[in-house]
Amino acid sequence: MQIVRGIEEFKRAREALDGSVGFVPTMGALHHGHLSLIKSSKKENDYTVVSIFVNPMQFLPGEDFDAYPRREEADCRICEIAGVDILFLPESSSIYKKDEVKLKAPGYLGYILEGSRRPGHFDGVLQIVMKLFGLVRPSRAYFGKKDAQQLALIRKMVDDFFLPVEIVAEETVREDDGLALSSRNVYLSTEERKRALSISRALKSASRLIMAGELESEKIKKRMYEIMKDIDIEYIQIVDRDFRPLRKVAIRNTIILVAARVGKTRLIDNLWV
Ligand code: AMP
Repeated sequence: MQIVRGIEEFKRAREALDGSVGFVPTMGALHHGHLSLIKSSKKENDYTVVSIFVNPMQFLPGEDFDAYPRREEADCRICEIAGVDILFLPESSSIYKKDEVKLKAPGYLGYILEGSRRPGHFDGVLQIVMKLFGLVRPSRAYFGKKDAQQLALIRKMVDDFFLPVEIVAEETVREDDGLALSSRNVYLSTEERKRALSISRALKSASRLIMAGELESEKIKKRMYEIMKDIDIEYIQIVDRDFRPLRKVAIRNTIILVAARVGKTRLIDNLWV
């Protein structure tokens, strides 16, 4: 595995790859969710590039940019064992210029739900992903369904800018007890982690209700609010694949989205129906 930090060095390493390139962009503190993206990329491409970059532009003032877990040594080992070809670890100063061209997330999809709680967050996500796509020139890029709105926005950017990359979405990887894996889970105390389980329990209960024939969004949401009563819910929303709110669940065209705070930790999760 090549570990590359500089932009010019990365360009040279990329140039030497002759074949299809799968790309997994991450912010590090790698877990089995990231590994599942890497595994798919390995299966479907000649080469796999992973980037680790805690992107300052997607954090709002007061968010956890400084506290965000940084585990470079462990991450390098994980990538090596997983068979990654190039691990790209750029510096912020070589990625961003002083007064540069800026992408803006679309007014609807970029500013509802996560975008309304974290205004500008997705502008920063699109900015970094566009830059990384320019450097990596991937045949396929792998993203988790756990960040459903991010995935939808990246798909839209690829479509709007006619980018020659295939976006591949992977299922959310969970702990045995249901908690969706996230680098931010390390912030949770034992007691908070227990309470956080109500998020995946609520989603599971929504799934059971739907299988039993309950399609009314309000009724499903009511049950979910009850289950999550001990944590600070930011939103529970039932939307179609274009993120338009649904009064009734439409099978194969619905995502149930949850954001909540447990102590100081903000968690998101969802269920694709
Ligand atoms: P992050 O490092 O949190 O920015 O995530 C990098 C990529 O991994 C994104 O595409 C995420 O959606 C994806 N990801 C994060 N958590 C999970 C998970 N539990 N299961 C599957 N993919 C995930």
